[in-house]
This record gives sequence, C-alpha cells and structure tokens, in this order.
Amino acid sequence: MVSKRKQGSTSLPGLGVKFGATVRKRYGKVYQTLKRKRRCPSCGSQRFGRVASGIWHCGKCSYKVAAGAYDIDLEKLQG
Ligand SMILES: [Zn+2]
Repeated sequence: MVSKRKQGSTSLPGLGVKFGATVRKRYGKVYQTLKRKRRCPSCGSQRFGRVASGIWHCGKCSYKVAAGAYDIDLEKLQG
C-alpha cells in the first residue's frame, strides 16, 4: 500500500508544487495580510475587503477607496 502524504499547514490556495519554498513563504505572508480582518475607515464595519488589486470596498456603507494592492495601510507595509 502506498500512503498519500498530506500537505502541511503551509499549503495555501493558489500555489501548488509548481513554485519553490521561498516563493510560497513570501506568498503566505502576503496572503495572510490580504485575508486579515480590517475595519472600514468610513463606518468602522468589519465588512471591508479588497475588490481588486488596490481597490478596497465596504459592504456596509459602500465606501470605496484606492490603496495598496495587498493592504490598505501602506505605511505599515513600507515600515
Ligand atoms: Zn463602511
């Protein structure tokens, strides 16, 4: 019997075995930043997320803003 090896917790959607460990590690960091819950700057609701690269939208008050591609707080990314 050949047992199938399960993928570890490092596996993320979007990247398979096509890429090396360094790329996956870097992607994982960005992915976590992207999926992190954040508040809407306008109404404070948590239903705030990225619609497209650099475009952020609030599902509650329909507030739309252009910011960073992976995070709305650009200062945090640079620092
Ligand atoms: Zn809002």
